[in-house]
Amino acid sequence: MRRANEPPQPVKPRGVLKQSPFKKAEPSGAARYPTLAMVVTLDVLTSLCKRRGFVFQASEIYGGFESTWDYGPLGVELKRRIADAWWRDTVLAREDVVGLDSAIIQSPRVWEASGHVGGFNDPLIDCKACKGRFRADQLEESPCPNKPSKCVGQHDACDLTEPRQFNMMFQTQVGPVDGNISYLRPETAQGIFTNFLNIQQSMRLKLPFGVGQIGKSFRNEIVTGNFIFRTREFEQMEMEYFCRPEEGMETHAYWVKERLDWYRSIGIQDENIRGEVIDPKDLAHYAKACTDIEYMYPAGWGELEGVAYRTDYDLTKHAEATGKKLAWMDPQTKEWIVPHVVEPAAGLSRIVLVALLDAYDDETLESGDTRNVLHFHPRIAPITLAVFPLVKKEGMPEKAREIMKRYLDRFPCTYDQGGAIGRRYRRQDEIGTPFCATVDGQTLEDDTVTLRDRDTMEQVRVKIDALGDWIDARTRDWSRT
Ligand code: ATP
Repeated sequence: MRRANEPPQPVKPRGVLKQSPFKKAEPSGAARYPTLAMVVTLDVLTSLCKRRGFVFQASEIYGGFESTWDYGPLGVELKRRIADAWWRDTVLAREDVVGLDSAIIQSPRVWEASGHVGGFNDPLIDCKACKGRFRADQLEESPCPNKPSKCVGQHDACDLTEPRQFNMMFQTQVGPVDGNISYLRPETAQGIFTNFLNIQQSMRLKLPFGVGQIGKSFRNEIVTGNFIFRTREFEQMEMEYFCRPEEGMETHAYWVKERLDWYRSIGIQDENIRGEVIDPKDLAHYAKACTDIEYMYPAGWGELEGVAYRTDYDLTKHAEATGKKLAWMDPQTKEWIVPHVVEPAAGLSRIVLVALLDAYDDETLESGDTRNVLHFHPRIAPITLAVFPLVKKEGMPEKAREIMKRYLDRFPCTYDQGGAIGRRYRRQDEIGTPFCATVDGQTLEDDTVTLRDRDTMEQVRVKIDALGDWIDARTRDWSRT
């Protein structure tokens, strides 16, 4: 959890700030860590993502640019499906939550009132010897830039300055007038607070209610890296849940459980995810509680989402700055209430990374063959169904294309006629397609196809008409095998 408007932090002495964003697994901790580290490293995943069209280095033909990444044909589908699952479960399926899509560039006054202009800072350290710039609290995993250097990695020979506060907002000039500046939003949440009255009044909402939003955020991070874990441009899925002050703690506990359950519902394995209660002494001064949802990354446990109980802090700050009454009148008691807020704030790009890490497997089959497979939950797999003709003749390609188009309205489908069937299965395994249907001679006689399951590799004969229901049922019951 890191938010704006912390009270000024005492600058800590240099040399002792060596905290990584990852915590190592405790010896008795999650069983998956050693296995995961052996199965997949970020380097292996980065290379698979490039090879199979999930994520590419941005500006690659120019040599790349500052840890920025582009989502390729399969990456964009994976990201959209995760966002769709979140939107469906967190907004559409709930009677008490509505959606919003607010602007990235807002009045600069928004960011002054929210505290981001004054306080959205990270501690920056310079090294006079290697000319490196480091985040003081992440010195350990930030190697010196001028290799080979005496101080590589350990900073033993670095000549470090005292930490100073570095504001992470990206400034931008608005229009042609010099000095008319604003900022790219560093979080989506403030657009929700500034629209509190618009949303509550237009939708006639009563407490408790929530407002969800998905969109890009920008932070001029001092240190980026670990593939798409930390980037300067990223996407967030945030929800502000407004409740009565006396219901704040209970609402917070409710959302922590909801969010952990949601990660399970998209297939993240139980042993790789946990809720980590933030010590009250580490809370922002206005927060009453915060739990980080953490994932077991190859480097250890790290944040995936923060669920924070932010009290009435944001509404009060915007009310003070604008003179507007950002409150709700209880229709029964006629009493004005400034709602308290619980905020589950997730990083969409970080969930893409987690979905890939969690799904990755290198399997040795009984036959001795090996296969690379991504065990995505069918809800988020970039492609749910691949349809193949057994051979490129006898009307099979036409039939296979017809099936693909028929089911495209229900889930993402693709068509592939290249190479032997076994090779086509392996290609789909590697991009995580849970089901493959093959059209053969029998299909033309009885309208059935062979349906192959990615995880069990079992094949069954299914009527074309029943294919959609069969896949929906399997998706509902899916568990990692
Ligand atoms: P971190 O400690 O990892 O920097 P944070 O505590 O600053 O994260 P929040 O401000 O709580 O993060 O934002 C909510 C979520 O947004 C985070 O849990 C994370 O998933 C995502 N997020 C934040 N910063 C980045 C970033 N630079 N790149 C990718 N995702 C990010």
